[in-house]
Amino acid sequence: MKRDQEVFDIIHKEYKRQKFGIELIASENFTSPQVMEAMGSVMTNKYAEGLPGKRYYGGCEFVDQTEVLAIERLKKLFGAAWANVQPHSGAQANAAVMLATLKAGDKILGFDLSHGGHLTHGSSVNFSGKLYEPHFYGVEEDTGVIDWDKVVDQARKVKPKLIICGASAYSRDWNYEALRKVADEIGALVLADISHPAGLVAKGLLKDPLKYCHIVTTTTHKTLRGPRGGVIMMGEDFENPYGLKTPKGNLRSMSSLLDSGVFPGTQGGPLEHVIAAKAVAFNEALSDEYFMYIKQVKKNAEAMAAAFNTKGYNIISGGTDNHLMLIDLRSKNLTGKIAENTLIKADITINKNMVPFDDKSPFVTSGMRVGTAAITTRGLVETDMARIVDYIDEVLSNYEDEHHINNVRTAVNEWMDSYPLFHGYVEESATVLPQ
Ligand code: PLP
Repeated sequence: MKRDQEVFDIIHKEYKRQKFGIELIASENFTSPQVMEAMGSVMTNKYAEGLPGKRYYGGCEFVDQTEVLAIERLKKLFGAAWANVQPHSGAQANAAVMLATLKAGDKILGFDLSHGGHLTHGSSVNFSGKLYEPHFYGVEEDTGVIDWDKVVDQARKVKPKLIICGASAYSRDWNYEALRKVADEIGALVLADISHPAGLVAKGLLKDPLKYCHIVTTTTHKTLRGPRGGVIMMGEDFENPYGLKTPKGNLRSMSSLLDSGVFPGTQGGPLEHVIAAKAVAFNEALSDEYFMYIKQVKKNAEAMAAAFNTKGYNIISGGTDNHLMLIDLRSKNLTGKIAENTLIKADITINKNMVPFDDKSPFVTSGMRVGTAAITTRGLVETDMARIVDYIDEVLSNYEDEHHINNVRTAVNEWMDSYPLFHGYVEESATVLPQ
C-alpha cells in the first residue's frame, strides 16, 4: 500500500500550526508523545463490546489489561470508588448518565449555555434539551458569579430529577455541597461535569465534587491532558432509586445502570486505543511533574487575568480560580468574532464566546474565552503571560492594520519556535512528533 502523502502533508501543516502559534483555546492541550503513541497503536484494531472480563468478543485479554489500568489509575487520581472509561467524549459521557438516570420528559436543571454552560446540559439544539425538560440557572449580572441561594430556591421550585453543575466558560469554583443538600431535599441526583477543570480538581486545587455529587463526568483532553475522550465516576456507588432490579430480584447498583447507559445504551464498541492512551495520561497525571504543571496552569491564569485587568479588559467575575477566563469585549468596542478572526491572523488562537446577558448572536458574541492549559504544557510561565496579553492587545487595538498584525505574527512565530509542544518530554521511544 502506498503511503498517503496527501493526508500526512496536511497533518504536518497542522503540526506546524500548533508549534508556531500561541494556543489559548481553554479546552485544548498538547498530549505527550506516549499518549499519542498509544492512540496510534494496534489497540485500534480490536472490538471489545462489554467490560473487562465480560466481553462479547474473544481475544480481549490485552485490551482488558489496559482498560483495567485506565479504570484503576483514574479511581486513584480522583479518589473515586467506581469509574467507566469508555465514553467516546464528554458529550457521550453526559448522554450515558442522562439515559441511566432520567425518563423522557423529566426535568433537568443546568447552568445556562449563554452564561458559560455546555450544550449537553439542556440546550434546545442538543439531545438533552430535546428529550428532557430543561431549566437553567445563571450568574448575577453585576458580579458575574452564581448566587447559590438563588439556585437552591430555583431547584426547590422546579423540582428537577437531575441537577447539573459544571461549565465550559465559568472561572469560579462550585458550591457542590449546597446542590447536594437541596437535591436530597427534593429527591434529585447531582451530576458534576468537570470537563474543564478536571486536572485542578484531581490535584486538590479546586473543591472535590466526588464528595458531594452522585455522579461526575469529565472529558480527558482538556486540563487532564489526555487523549480526546470522556469518563464517568462516582465517589461511592449506591442502589438505584428507581426500583430497577436484576433478574434475581436485587436492586441494581447505580454503577450497573451507568455501565448500561454507556453500552449498550448510547455507544457500540469502545475505542480501546483511546482507552490505552487514557491509561497512559492518568498515570502521567498521578505524577509530581503533572502536579507542578497544573499548579503552573493556575498561576499562569492568575497572571494572565492580572495582565488583562491592567490593560483595561473586563474579565467576567473579575478574575479566575481555574485555568480560564471569559472577557467581555464591549468596553473595547469589539466583538468576539472580530477578536477571533483578527488574532488568528497573528497565529494566536482563542475562541469567541457569549458573555452573560449578551446582546449579540452566538455567531458574533461580545466575548472571548482564553485558557492557559496548552501554553503551560509548552513551558510558558507567569512572566510570559504579560507578553502574550501585550500581543493580544496590540492586535486588537490595531485590528484593521494588516501590517501591524503581520509584525505580531512574526514575533509570535519566532518566540514559539523555541518551545516544543510538550515541554520536558525526554523519552526517545516516541516517534509520533516530527520535531
Ligand atoms: N462538558 C463540558 C463542560 C464541556 O466544556 C465540553 C466540551 O467542551 C463537553 C462536555 C463535551 O465534550 P466533548 O467535546 O468531548 O464531547
